[in-house]
Amino acid sequence: MLTPPPRFPLAVLPTPLVLAPRLSAALEREVWIKRDDLIGFAFGGNKVRALEVLVAEALDERCDHVVGCGGPASNLCSALAAAAATAGLGCTLVLHGGEPGVTHPNLAMMRAFGARIFFTGDPDRASTPEHAAAAADRLRSRGRHPYVVPRGAASGPGATAYALAAQELASQLTFRPAHVVAAVGSGGTLAGLLAGWATFDLPGTLVGVAVSRPLAETRREVIRLSCEAASALGIGGPEIDRLRLLDGLGAGFGRADRTTSDAARLALRTEGIIADTTYVARAVAALESLGGPLVLWHTGGWLSCVGDAMGAGHG
Ligand SMILES: *Cc1c(COP(=O)(O)O)cnc(C)c1O
Repeated sequence: MLTPPPRFPLAVLPTPLVLAPRLSAALEREVWIKRDDLIGFAFGGNKVRALEVLVAEALDERCDHVVGCGGPASNLCSALAAAAATAGLGCTLVLHGGEPGVTHPNLAMMRAFGARIFFTGDPDRASTPEHAAAAADRLRSRGRHPYVVPRGAASGPGATAYALAAQELASQLTFRPAHVVAAVGSGGTLAGLLAGWATFDLPGTLVGVAVSRPLAETRREVIRLSCEAASALGIGGPEIDRLRLLDGLGAGFGRADRTTSDAARLALRTEGIIADTTYVARAVAALESLGGPLVLWHTGGWLSCVGDAMGAGHG
């Protein structure tokens, strides 16, 4: 039997599932959009679902502080800072690199929500979790009780939130999609959806567009997190043959190329849909290679899109 995790309420659910008629006409196939960009909390997009579970866990463990890591353009870090404020928790964010020349809107919001911010001085994205662990140790030595949020909020418990999102989609579908498509970074979102896919009897394939890491590595991570989420929920393991991954790395993580920028413009100008070039526009670009009907899982990234328009760079 499915045991849903405790959640600290942040999101406005369910998010709408809407037909995109002009995007459908432009791509000559039926496209629906699952609007997690309208999640209703702090421009947070998909990250808000995971944060509901992680913040509940932090409160349950009687923590008084959250520690997160990422880059100056991180959607997770900015949503985490907001969630910490809502829950009355302190927030420390460890960001790779140094203070950027142009302040990304997500960095501006991290500060606006009252988070304390440290730059590692190391441009390597992969080194931030170590620095976050050290920041948590420093907090403990001062008598605080920090909760460390994993990179990308990607953990088994965090991913359970998207297994429940698969149930939410199943309850909204009035047609049988051939493919449901989402951008994949740390993998937690797709992992959770995959965990819920068979349990909630969703049709078609779940297509992930890998924007952050090479395909094989992304696949391993998605499957690992999906198994963890399924076991946390007490449901059967994921049906891996329902999963398909496409390469969306292009010029590299956060580096827009022509195809991505064109896809972002298409979404903006056909539907007024905000698609950032790091994540969502790459999922939009992938639609062309897939037969319909399609569901594009819009994972958010509004402030990244504002950053794109300002030329702030994803960093
Ligand atoms: C983080 C993020 C993703 C990727 O989600 P993961 O769970 O890290 O794979 C996709 N889109 C947006 C806008 C994001 O912020």
